[in-house]
Amino acid sequence: MATNRTFTMIKPDAVKNGHIGAILQQINAGGFKIVAMKYTKLSAEKAGEFYAVHAERPFYGELVEFMSSGPIVAAVLEKDNAVADFRTLIGATNPAEAAEGTIRKQFATSIGENAVHGSDSDENADIESQFHFAGTEIFG
Ligand code: ADP
Repeated sequence: MATNRTFTMIKPDAVKNGHIGAILQQINAGGFKIVAMKYTKLSAEKAGEFYAVHAERPFYGELVEFMSSGPIVAAVLEKDNAVADFRTLIGATNPAEAAEGTIRKQFATSIGENAVHGSDSDENADIESQFHFAGTEIFG
């Protein structure tokens, strides 16, 4: 299992608000190499599957609706210590609690519409990358 990769999505709010370029620039400036990327849109069914771990949470319906509301950018990123370093770069789930300079602090609008996803473990980075990309679409 890769420990130097993480999976990210630029969420529908950030795409809609015109932040794809600025977010990709910060990802690169943070030392991450993009090894897979696609501009796509999740169906409600796919969004529900991706966030199945949250199925019992009160915000699940809202999350699925939001994540399937418009296009996203999905990407696999490579860097030493990728999962933890990317979580630092994006900041806390709630932008009100995110550190200055983090991607969520700059671009998120609320705890739900928080601009970017970042995997929370190496295991999930692997699962989430495979959810979105075939092996032939990842260029490590
Ligand atoms: P993270 O994305 O920072 O790992 P979680 O795994 O806890 O955060 O939650 C997954 C996603 O669910 C969040 O990024 C956010 O879009 C949404 N979410 C989390 N908590 C809430 C909440 N209280 N209300 C609405 N949406 C939420």
